[in-house]
Amino acid sequence: MLEIKDLHAKIGDKEILKGINLTINEGETHAIMGPNGSGKSTLSAVLVGNPLYEVTAGEALFHGKNLLEMNPEDRAHEGLFLSFQYPVEIPGVSMTNFMRAAINEKRKYEGKEPLNAADFLKLMREKRKIVELDSKLSNRSVNEGFSGGEKKRNEIFQMAMLEPKLAILDETDSGLDVDALRTVAEGVNKLKTPETSCIVITHYERLLEIIKPDVIHVLYKGRIVKTAGPELAKEIEKRGYDWIKAELGE
Ligand code: ADP
Ligand code: MG
Ligand code: MG
Repeated sequence: MLEIKDLHAKIGDKEILKGINLTINEGETHAIMGPNGSGKSTLSAVLVGNPLYEVTAGEALFHGKNLLEMNPEDRAHEGLFLSFQYPVEIPGVSMTNFMRAAINEKRKYEGKEPLNAADFLKLMREKRKIVELDSKLSNRSVNEGFSGGEKKRNEIFQMAMLEPKLAILDETDSGLDVDALRTVAEGVNKLKTPETSCIVITHYERLLEIIKPDVIHVLYKGRIVKTAGPELAKEIEKRGYDWIKAELGE
């Protein structure tokens, strides 16, 4: 599904990604961990096409197509979804209108007719349940005045609505209380299918205990320096990253 080869990216003069190699197959969930400032958010931003970052070498193929040549909208239409570490507020645009536009743009790209009002509202209801999102929020501007937990639930709700093929969750768990974390993580699990894949960026083993990734990578200084099974998260929780840095000779 996703094949990243020797990906380098910079912001301004600063090289941040220094040769990322990563292959994700259909149905797989990969976790990316790593100290702050390692380049985790940069990697997700580069994949969805944030223009702030310049790719200087390497490639990223999504279902065999060159992702790096597509504009951000087409990447989304092709089935890529990024849940932000800091969800943005969109004053003046109601959740309902925002979602209707997003869904219908995607349908148009797929050559489908727009959803009629009744089917759209039914879909909204169905998907809200997955993350126990309050129906009142639908009439409010996107994320405006939402609590931290509501913003994060809203990210997963949007993911549920758009049914991406590859979802990237960038620290969706940060700032959540234990109950909200469980709701969000279980929401992600409900959306998993044998054809969809997920990249979960997190600092917390407790999220991974629920989401149960197939593989865990450690990103450090712009490179993936370690790849292992789920047990790696427990070890990092216990021992931090110093032992991994020591293995690298630091
Ligand atoms: P992580 O998500 O792993 O914490 P980031 O990808 O956010 O790491 O950041 C990686 C590095 O890139 C850090 O050194 C950070 O300061 C730098 N960086 C990220 N975004 C910007 C930016 N907009 N301008 C300048 N430097 C940035
Ligand atoms: Mg960070
Ligand atoms: Mg980050």
